Amino acid sequence: MSKAARRKSRPFRAGTLHAATSRAARTPVSRPDSADWARRRVTVMGLGRHGGGVGAARYLASRGALVTISDQAPRAALADSLAQLRDVPIKAVHLDGHDPADFRDAEYVVVNPAVHLDHICLRIARDSGAVLTSESELFLRACPAAIIGVTGSNGKSTTCSMLQAILTAAGRRTWLGGNIGRSLLGEVDTMTADDWVVLELSSFQLAHLGDAAPLPRFAVVTNCTTNHLDWHGDMASYVQAKQRIVSRQEPDSVAVLNALDAEVAGWDASVAGRALWAWELERIPPLAVPGAHNRQNAACASAASSAAGVDESVICRALADFKGLEHRLVLVAEVDGRRFYNDSKSTTPAATLAALDAIEGPVWLLAGGLAKGVALDGLAHAIVERARGAGLFGVAREMIRSLVQSERADFPVHSTARLADALVWCWRRSRPGDAILLSPACASYDQFRDFEERGETFCQLVRELPSSCKD
Ligand code: ADP
Repeated sequence: MSKAARRKSRPFRAGTLHAATSRAARTPVSRPDSADWARRRVTVMGLGRHGGGVGAARYLASRGALVTISDQAPRAALADSLAQLRDVPIKAVHLDGHDPADFRDAEYVVVNPAVHLDHICLRIARDSGAVLTSESELFLRACPAAIIGVTGSNGKSTTCSMLQAILTAAGRRTWLGGNIGRSLLGEVDTMTADDWVVLELSSFQLAHLGDAAPLPRFAVVTNCTTNHLDWHGDMASYVQAKQRIVSRQEPDSVAVLNALDAEVAGWDASVAGRALWAWELERIPPLAVPGAHNRQNAACASAASSAAGVDESVICRALADFKGLEHRLVLVAEVDGRRFYNDSKSTTPAATLAALDAIEGPVWLLAGGLAKGVALDGLAHAIVERARGAGLFGVAREMIRSLVQSERADFPVHSTARLADALVWCWRRSRPGDAILLSPACASYDQFRDFEERGETFCQLVRELPSSCKD
């Protein structure tokens, strides 16, 4: 088959990342939803450890595609993901770096959301005529169920889980996946048009969606504060990525926008299908999860599920019963009158501000890790205003310390490499009635595998606190 003929009969023609600059963006787009992947040469760029690469590779290989996996990480780092593919007929696995040949020869490249849009291998693929796509896009194209897509800088997973609880309580068969850590591609064949999917979408996943990718029928934006600027470059690009979830909606689609978020409140809703502004917190029942931020998450989940036809009484009952997720502002222990909170999932200043706001009484904050290119002065200000003292750890500790001390030179801070030492410092200074809060405002990757490992380490350290420090 000639190259031109091969392209014409491709499963779909989209997946261009830069509409303005890409050749493929100018070609007409067809959207066959029953894609024929048999013998297509597909490179999965970035197998990763979060399930998306595995899900895509499995899905495509089961449809007869000739799948090559390309990852910059070594085999040992990908052992779990590779083990999940043991029974899958993969054509080639190339690790420890990307081979340009895998991009030159591919018809499709399934791009991991963490890969930068201007990666040299993506340029090679584009220049060779390959179609760029992603696990999220494959799912959006193949899914027969109604999809509620949720994005935002903070609160995505919590809002998704609230939605899942509400829809399940309403008796609907509901699937939860996406950025929350589960690829749903493998289950797409068992989904029906009567099912509901709650799909968490990160800014990276949205940035990688092709310009013709179908969008979720219901879109929720919990908020939009600075995040991931190390990847997006600047706030404008980050906002643009978030806005993609509503930017091309069909007229019968619904956008739930959080009117209480300063950035989102200013968005032009006329680009969305039907815009619903979530703001009526007084209609939300008392929640088991703490803080005004969780009431905003609940307001978003309530507006979306109401638009999806769920009764208000069911929504209120499910929200009132919602117990929250691990590592998100969870009271994990009380020792000698001190409350210990694990909020390891806080990887942004906004999440830590929400935690400081939600906790009652004097607070000792544990923060630090890998900052994601965002300004930390607002965090420093909040620490001085709200906390008794701060134990700082990880790569960002000195940056936060100097910002805190430029707010108030005599503010009690302890800057130390390890979380363990920062915790003991807070513990020694705390009094009965105080809270000790791990809410790092930074990513965990400098010292931990992920936020889960950081949170579990914290809980373990709390269990092992030296009793000699007790008052
Ligand atoms: P995401 O999936 O967007 O990372 P999560 O629900 O996992 O969001 O919560 C991540 C962190 O953000 C946790 O520390 C949580 O307490 C905090 N958080 C949750 N909802 C909000 C919100 N609406 N505003 C600010 N912080 C929030």
